Amino acid sequence: MSYIVFARKYRPQAFDEVVGQSHITTTLENAIAQDRVAHAYIFAGPRGVGKTTTARIFAKALNCERGPTADPCNKCPLCLEITQGSSLDILEIDGASNRGIDEIRNLRENVKFSPSKGRFKVYIIDEVHMLTQEAFNALLKTLEEPPAHVKFIFATTQAHKVPPTILSRCQRFDFRRISIKDIVDSLKAIAKKENLKVEDDVLILMAKHSDGSMRDAQVVLDQISSFADGRISLEDASKILGAVSDDILFSLADSIKSRDALGALKIIDDLANEGKDVAEIVLYLIEHFRDLSVE
Ligand SMILES: [Zn+2]
Repeated sequence: MSYIVFARKYRPQAFDEVVGQSHITTTLENAIAQDRVAHAYIFAGPRGVGKTTTARIFAKALNCERGPTADPCNKCPLCLEITQGSSLDILEIDGASNRGIDEIRNLRENVKFSPSKGRFKVYIIDEVHMLTQEAFNALLKTLEEPPAHVKFIFATTQAHKVPPTILSRCQRFDFRRISIKDIVDSLKAIAKKENLKVEDDVLILMAKHSDGSMRDAQVVLDQISSFADGRISLEDASKILGAVSDDILFSLADSIKSRDALGALKIIDDLANEGKDVAEIVLYLIEHFRDLSVE
């Protein structure tokens, strides 16, 4: 069997598996239960926090044989097709590479036709802010009079670049960065299933490094696990992540505090010679000061 990356292998398949976004998943679940689903949504937020994943689960909830249901079965042919990415009724479009007027005109033609198997055709447009002004204008016409069998989910990392005319026709959900604790818990669960030995401090380092993105954290765990062969040490992880150890950060902070410029420069020089990126060293130092002020 071919290798499946962690981010895909452990992608949530139900609303309650989505980590750190319960303010959104609960609202969507209620909308489905109360039959109050809007025809267009904007999912805004940083990368790797579950926007597309939530969009796919939402599509499944709408089209499941037993649905619409907040709790799709994940067993019927319609659910399985969506999981495998082969459903003809779920159209995932990358806004960055389909940003022109022609692509959106095609979409407008296509929108008229009924879904092939499911109840709804769900258009998921990723990075929607990349569309051209003309493309947005064309899209707006469809949003003004959408066919009843169509739902739109627009995902974006830069909602401020989406025209107000589009935003005002969508229900907006703001996805949050995922907390370090939530990422650590999630990585821990994956490590257990994969029989990986990873200490908590290593998981915390990975979680901090990924800056609230679950996908980035999973990619890091994946990468390091193939390197480290079953047991991941803090040293391995620091090396691969280009992280700076706490000991060094404490010495650096001490030399700054005691106004020892020469000492501080010596430490930075050593780190740079090890191949560390100076801009990253600064970020680690800021993080270190933040940790100190919180503790
Ligand atoms: Zn189903």
